[in-house]
Amino acid sequence: MFDGFGRKIDYLRISVTDRCNFRCQYCMAENMVFMPRTELLSLEEITLIAERFIGHGIKKIRLTGGEPLVRRDMRDVIQRLGRKVKTGELAELTLTTNGSLLTEYAEHLAYHNVRRINVSMDTLHPEKFAEISRGAKVDQVLAGIAAARQANIKVKINMVALRDFNQDDLIPMVEYCAEHGHDLTVIETMPMGDVGADRKLEHIKAEEFISPLLERYSINPIEYKSAGPARYMGVEPLGLRLGLITPLSNNFCDSCNRLRLTTDGKIYMCLGHDAHVDLRAAVRNEGIEAVDQMLQKALKLKPLRHDFNDQLEGSAKILERHMNVTGG
Ligand code: SAM
Ligand code: SF4
Repeated sequence: MFDGFGRKIDYLRISVTDRCNFRCQYCMAENMVFMPRTELLSLEEITLIAERFIGHGIKKIRLTGGEPLVRRDMRDVIQRLGRKVKTGELAELTLTTNGSLLTEYAEHLAYHNVRRINVSMDTLHPEKFAEISRGAKVDQVLAGIAAARQANIKVKINMVALRDFNQDDLIPMVEYCAEHGHDLTVIETMPMGDVGADRKLEHIKAEEFISPLLERYSINPIEYKSAGPARYMGVEPLGLRLGLITPLSNNFCDSCNRLRLTTDGKIYMCLGHDAHVDLRAAVRNEGIEAVDQMLQKALKLKPLRHDFNDQLEGSAKILERHMNVTGG
């Protein structure tokens, strides 16, 4: 599949639920209202749609949310899509999770061919972790990560860079990741949905956020490339691979290879735009074959780039959609 600008699209992110057992301050409002369950795609719909997408050239799928592991039939979703890795139809099935339920899920994930996961953790400091997630326990996440490693799943930690909040926590995080063999990615905040905070005040460029590392370590760009938008550097002598996701300070839309399926069956072609097609309605009315035509329509809608910068500067409207609907 190619979009209107000639970019090859082979990566699908599926938000399997908008619900979550955390309430991270940059992601959700405190009193978040979730979609009625009837709006959610069923297990059957998710797998049929994913299979159809695979038929059109999707090679990698990331399951995300909300918190994907709070979905009741998540074991079945993993099992069915994991089969596609076994048959070679999918090159990779991965997951982004807050890690809190990994002790229950790690073995199931590994058994069904999930070899790598991303776990979000913005600080190792218990009180600060509870503050940013509005009540969650970092120890539970650390135990989940340990269970994943035990099951032989490679872990990458996602750390959102928050001005005046967690820059001091970067060195402990870097040391923890190096010690345990995890990659680390620093992500700039994106202005998605009203969370009751000033998005401009919380934002800090990733380059600025990592500047304390320069005093202690040698940091150099490396060739490594993942399926996502991060650019990587090596942190020596720790031997740590550090990724930066810089949607605002260093645009990477030129190489975007992704499309996103939401919990309620919409295809969004860009995290930072509202343009979408309603796949669920089409599939429910016309059957699974409707995917083919809707995909062609969606590919034409993919914008050249997001306009998060304009949103942050106030010259474009902040999106109403929160991150948990389209998934990170
Ligand atoms: N619940 C899972 C988790 O936290 O990993 C998966 C969904 S979460 C929406 C996916 C990623 O998006 C997480 O790494 C999270 O930190 C990040 N995220 C959420 N809101 C964001 C925002 N406004 N800007 C940048 N990253 C955000
Ligand atoms: Fe939940 Fe992930 Fe959003 Fe945090 S970032 S509230 S864990 S969906």
